[in-house]
Amino acid sequence: MAMRFCILGSGSAGNAALLVTGGARVLVDAGFSAKKLAALLAAAGESLEKIDAVFLTHEHGDHAAGIDGLKKFPHIRVFANAATARAVQAGLSWRADWQFFETGARFRYRDLEVESFSVPHDAQEPVGFRFSTGHDGDLIAPRRSLAFLTDLGHAPQNVRERIRECEVVVVEANHCPELLKADMKRPWSTKQRIGGRHGHLSNHAASELLAEVASPHWRRVYLTHLSRDCNSADAVDRAFARVRATLTACEFAVVGPGEGTPFYELE
Ligand SMILES: [Zn+2]
Ligand SMILES: [Zn+2]
Repeated sequence: MAMRFCILGSGSAGNAALLVTGGARVLVDAGFSAKKLAALLAAAGESLEKIDAVFLTHEHGDHAAGIDGLKKFPHIRVFANAATARAVQAGLSWRADWQFFETGARFRYRDLEVESFSVPHDAQEPVGFRFSTGHDGDLIAPRRSLAFLTDLGHAPQNVRERIRECEVVVVEANHCPELLKADMKRPWSTKQRIGGRHGHLSNHAASELLAEVASPHWRRVYLTHLSRDCNSADAVDRAFARVRATLTACEFAVVGPGEGTPFYELE
């Protein structure tokens, strides 16, 4: 098996995912307390002791709140660009084992090839990731890739190119524009921010992105970071019905707010 992947939790209350290859066990974001992360990992048969590293997309609490609690697990390396690391470190009670990367650079970590790319979101220097393992043409360990794309207001061309050659795509389907507009809890300015060019992808924007790229490589697409108040299972079903019907070889997993997923094994 080339990689195993699961979402530990998704939504504005916290985001974290786990990627396991033959040589590495990494978290993508750590937006839960260490206690909660430990419980989520235990439910997946894993533990913080076995985690090698965390890759941070950006400093928002729903992605980075768990770093402070990792004090008790100093073996865990924390990969981020300098701007994100600076923003997270400012709120920590200890000095994390930062491993800096430059946004856009490609680097190796154990048996992973990691590529970060900038995304438009209202944080210091937010990124998406592409993780690959294996080699082209290798029958035993073929190259497999996973793209991770949450927290972006729109999808520029660089993002579209990064998700094309992947078997697994994690993309946010944050809100339904009508439900966001009707929401009474959020002030107008917050709603403008969420729906803006540096906010979050709506169901419609995410389904358009998938329909436009529509890669034959895709085996599984995760729809994540759903808003509890401004989205619904019905709205997601409606918005993605057409693209799901065209991408027949690809499975879709809709990850509800606060939910995780079982492991997906990619051969
Ligand atoms: Zn964010
Ligand atoms: Zn977020």
